[in-house]
Amino acid sequence: MTTRSVEAIIRPGAPHYVGDGFRVHNFIPGNQGANMQRMNPFIMLDYNSKYHFTGTEKPRGVGVHPHRGFETVTIAYQGKVAHHDSGGGGGVIAQGDVQWMTAASGVLHKEYHEEAWAREGGIFQMVQLWVNLPAKDKMSPPKYQAIKNETIPQVDLDTAGSTVKVIAGNYQGTQGAASTFTPVHLFNARLKSGARADFSFPAAYHTALLVIEGAITVNGKHEAPTDHFVLMGNDGEAFSIEASEDALVLVMSGEPIHEPIAAHGPFVMNTRQELIEAFDDFNQGKFGYLED
Ligand code: MN
Repeated sequence: MTTRSVEAIIRPGAPHYVGDGFRVHNFIPGNQGANMQRMNPFIMLDYNSKYHFTGTEKPRGVGVHPHRGFETVTIAYQGKVAHHDSGGGGGVIAQGDVQWMTAASGVLHKEYHEEAWAREGGIFQMVQLWVNLPAKDKMSPPKYQAIKNETIPQVDLDTAGSTVKVIAGNYQGTQGAASTFTPVHLFNARLKSGARADFSFPAAYHTALLVIEGAITVNGKHEAPTDHFVLMGNDGEAFSIEASEDALVLVMSGEPIHEPIAAHGPFVMNTRQELIEAFDDFNQGKFGYLED
């Protein structure tokens, strides 16, 4: 097994708002190399780093909008998001929970801070990751997996409380909670200061880390502080992370989907023609109905 190198350590850029409830740093596609094909099947990553929202009677968020051609994965670290979709689905994504929504052929949904949480306000911290679907699955029926924190399988690394929670894929023989269309590994690694975790994925898999809490050293020499994104190379399989202070790291690795990408706003398809069809279908109400 050869070592996978660190290709780039990317600092968070200036944040922007998605609606009025998500103050995010965009890392994928970003403008620092982690573009859609470079990270495919991970085609978008918005990170709301810790931010204090004041209490309000009118929850902040983003109103009704469509998606087609991929999956949205929402990972809550602090705060609560309420979700409703045109398929009648809905729920609350609270601290430690993950919502894995397969938009596929198309859904309308809205994402807001949960009402009671919004009233109090507080520190909000969240990731939204978009996972691409292969052409053959882009028009499959929508669905979603509401994955509660306590149902995410956990691998204990030591007796001090260092753990790897397996959201999807497989870590050291422990199978993740989410089902995926293509091979995707997604973990939350919580390491006590000084603890080390080793990972190995096929060299071709696009792989990255996001430091949610604390600071880490990758492969014994590359330091990555809080809120930084580590783009790993494709020159080897294995790498290690070591916590220089108590740390929480989102680890992602996925088999590339070798297909063209045509993306515009909330639609990610293979061809421009399919994008036009998506807009037509949306305008004709074929994504269903959801009240604002
Ligand atoms: Mn959305």
